Amino acid sequence: MEALPERVFRRGEERKPTMAFIVCEPCIKCKFTDCVDVCPVACFHEGANMLAIDPDECIDCGVCVDECPVTAIYPEDEVPEKWQKYIALNAQYAKEWPVIEEGKDPLPTADEYKDVEEKDGEFDPAPGEGN
Ligand code: SF4
Ligand code: SF4
Repeated sequence: MEALPERVFRRGEERKPTMAFIVCEPCIKCKFTDCVDVCPVACFHEGANMLAIDPDECIDCGVCVDECPVTAIYPEDEVPEKWQKYIALNAQYAKEWPVIEEGKDPLPTADEYKDVEEKDGEFDPAPGEGN
């Protein structure tokens, strides 16, 4: 019998074992939301001061990457070493925060924080409003 192609799954099995894209630290206190407008599925979730991508919903298309003005989004296997914890953070908070499907104005702090490095301590685990 021929082996199944790698991406064929039977009903009830995990939908896909592929990697997701990850929102990293540069999003904190910026939340420009340009990424949300181009995402073909509803995998962005809104926290109070950053977004997270649901790894179970992301279809790995990558179109959001170039839309982010602060280069916050990376494929999972290219997340810089210093931001590795954002892989688990996206998975956790995507389940807790509401879906955001339409872009909105950036946070008032966006210009001030867009070039700030080391803003990890500013992360707010509270949910955003979603839409
Ligand atoms: S475009 Fe970048 S900064 Fe804006 S919400 Fe998306 S990931 Fe965050
Ligand atoms: S890679 Fe595609 S599906 Fe995943 S978050 Fe970005 S735009 Fe959405």
